[in-house]
Amino acid sequence: MRIDILSCVPRLLESPLSHSIIQRAKDKGLVEIHIHDIRDYAPGKHRQVDDYPYGGGAGMVMMVEPIANVIRHLQQERDYEEIIYLSPDGVRLDQKLVNRLSLTQNMILLAGHYKGIDQRVRDLFVTREISVGDYVLSGGELPALVLTDALVRLIPGVLSDESSALFDSFQDQLLDAPVYTRPAEFEGHQIPEVLLSGHEKNIQEWRYEQALKKTQERRPDLLEED
Ligand code: SAM
Repeated sequence: MRIDILSCVPRLLESPLSHSIIQRAKDKGLVEIHIHDIRDYAPGKHRQVDDYPYGGGAGMVMMVEPIANVIRHLQQERDYEEIIYLSPDGVRLDQKLVNRLSLTQNMILLAGHYKGIDQRVRDLFVTREISVGDYVLSGGELPALVLTDALVRLIPGVLSDESSALFDSFQDQLLDAPVYTRPAEFEGHQIPEVLLSGHEKNIQEWRYEQALKKTQERRPDLLEED
């Protein structure tokens, strides 16, 4: 998988993409992630990427030209199945959508700023618009990182135990069961006896029951999904 992230504040992206699971995935050649500074594609020596909104009103709008330039530059190199704009008015991201997008070979993620991007970018280039939730952030970098992280951990070979991702919350419409590690007793609080039994079938049953109980209590809507 190759992910190209377009941003006018690229430094916001650097550290989260340079550690832990994502860095290991890059090192193993399982994912390529490229960050592009939209300002590098702005005409003129001031590298201007935003301007006043037509019709007036508060805030600036990201201009169409620099974004069109970087997208076209990338499209000359390869085909992109997805050009995704992270936006609060997009489709809400969930695990099903992440699973579907994890099959994509090449994708562009576009992070907006200010009041957002000129509508013509959305009309002419964007294939999909995704929101990370019903709240407004200052920029699309954090949403782009959220999506990238969720995608990378699904790539085969990225997690040391591949089955781990399959049992995470939202896979199979269930939240995850509680997890424990050593010590078995902390200040009088014991871990559930079954986890020490070594009986694989009983442990699986306990985990399923716990996951079901938690889902019924916290997210009954998940159990009603198709
Ligand atoms: N005026 C826009 C609106 O009300 O829909 C909000 C613009 S927001 C201040 C600036 C940028 O942050 C957006 O262009 C988008 O890229 C990103 N952003 C903010 N909240 C987001 C969310 N919930 N999901 C995805 N992207 C978001």
